[in-house]
Amino acid sequence: MTGNLYIDTRGACTEPVTFTEAVIDGLATGGGLYVPEQIPELSLEDIGALAELPYAKRAAALYRAFDIDLPGDIIDALMERAYGDNFDDERVCPITSLNATTHVLELWHGPTSAFKDMALQCLPKFFSASAAQLRDQGKLSHNFLILVATSGDTGKAALEGFRDADGVIIGVMYPDGGVSDIQYKQMATQAGGNVRVWGVRGNFDDCQTGAKNVFADEAFAARLKDEHGIALSSANSINWGRLMPQIVYYVSSYAQLVADGKLGLGDELDVCVPTGNFGNILAAYYAKRMGVPLGMLFCASNENRVLTDFINTGTYDISERPFVLTPSPSMDILVSSNLERQLFELSGRNAATIAGWMSDLREKRAFRVDEETFARMRETFVSDSVDNATCLNTIKAVFDEHDYLLDPHTAVAYQAAGNLRGENPVLVVSTAHWAKFGDNVYRALHGIEPGAALPEDVAALTGCALNELIAQETGKHDLPRGLAELDELPIRFTDVIDNGTSEIEGAAVRFLVDLDNDHTR
Ligand SMILES: *Cc1c(COP(=O)(O)O)cnc(C)c1O
Repeated sequence: MTGNLYIDTRGACTEPVTFTEAVIDGLATGGGLYVPEQIPELSLEDIGALAELPYAKRAAALYRAFDIDLPGDIIDALMERAYGDNFDDERVCPITSLNATTHVLELWHGPTSAFKDMALQCLPKFFSASAAQLRDQGKLSHNFLILVATSGDTGKAALEGFRDADGVIIGVMYPDGGVSDIQYKQMATQAGGNVRVWGVRGNFDDCQTGAKNVFADEAFAARLKDEHGIALSSANSINWGRLMPQIVYYVSSYAQLVADGKLGLGDELDVCVPTGNFGNILAAYYAKRMGVPLGMLFCASNENRVLTDFINTGTYDISERPFVLTPSPSMDILVSSNLERQLFELSGRNAATIAGWMSDLREKRAFRVDEETFARMRETFVSDSVDNATCLNTIKAVFDEHDYLLDPHTAVAYQAAGNLRGENPVLVVSTAHWAKFGDNVYRALHGIEPGAALPEDVAALTGCALNELIAQETGKHDLPRGLAELDELPIRFTDVIDNGTSEIEGAAVRFLVDLDNDHTR
């Protein structure tokens, strides 16, 4: 059983690989990203019929359509565990309609209260099953270190997804001082015998670049294998096993809106996605390619508007672009990894062209796409950016008008949707529970400028206590349990390291040595 095969965006892999191999490899040799050779097509009837199934079965049906090389009964069993009572709503990702044409897709009902759970409750299951299958086939003999660079949400979601998984350990790096109190505590208190967390000096791009450099260090890889029987892999959004689960909720949401009588089967639905690494919106693109009647895809940026400028001009330029801190930190990035897959698709799968643009980006910190690719991009994507003050004003306005509390990332998307929308109804993608970003929600509700100090008594509160206060003020008492209990948990991880390759590698080795000592003791 080989199933649908995977090729890479830079054309460096001469042999296509299977799904299980693509999941285990993460990044392709040569630095490209894996994409499936065939993109399956669904009929409108197929899509509509999904609404009769629970979410776990919708996911399994989609993976069957992708023809992944795992047995069907295993896929079913894995999805039951990935999308079960680890989510606090049996619909997994319910849709709240604010009016007849604005539907909010809530992707934050998982264990860490952010949308990364949608993929990261699933990927580790794929990962373990893939490793087991490859071991049975004699293609694998080592264990894995998952190394993750996070701007906040991914790290916790990956830790939670991989905790105590068989044959896998996980190390997470976040920008020291660049995540919220809640995000910090979520990671620093992480349970599990196979986990480690490091603060890294620098911003998220420094973290991500550091991780990429470690992945590119062949000597280090050889040393890990020889001395520890470990290979590196990635749970970042470049792993196809993380991207594919995100396609599911677009197909599923469309089916659900039709079943709920909010959309006619075949009617167009526009989608607005708060975008950082381009994984979430890329999943919407694949859903559209598969036959879901999505109209325009709105790419919503915060003040780090590199993607907005790119979609508007065709030039991706970070040569003189400052990195701005915003109320929506998970979108604070300059190098948007998954854009490479999008460009591969829009260029007619021209790997040589992609390799050229990516090398321009590395060397000149900029690239420009050709006219044809640009025109194709404009057929599907529009984009707008939302400044920090408008983001907070939007949270207040939506609360006043709809009695609904948005987190700052979702507020960026809501506002961008307002600016960009046409005739079609819009699915606004909500990527975090508001309580993950309580400080800025408080600013929003109290008319405090972004970045301005909170009143002293409020600033003295922990993230949890601040959320309690907001809950009292707004009547929104639906605080997720994982967030409410954070102050009671002990801090396990306090290390802060530099972002250079050797510092990160050193930290990884110390982690492995500690584990080896534990096992021999
Ligand atoms: C990761 C994240 C995003 C950005 O998603 P991408 O797939 O990287 O574009 C937006 N909002 C939140 C809350 C996130 O955690």
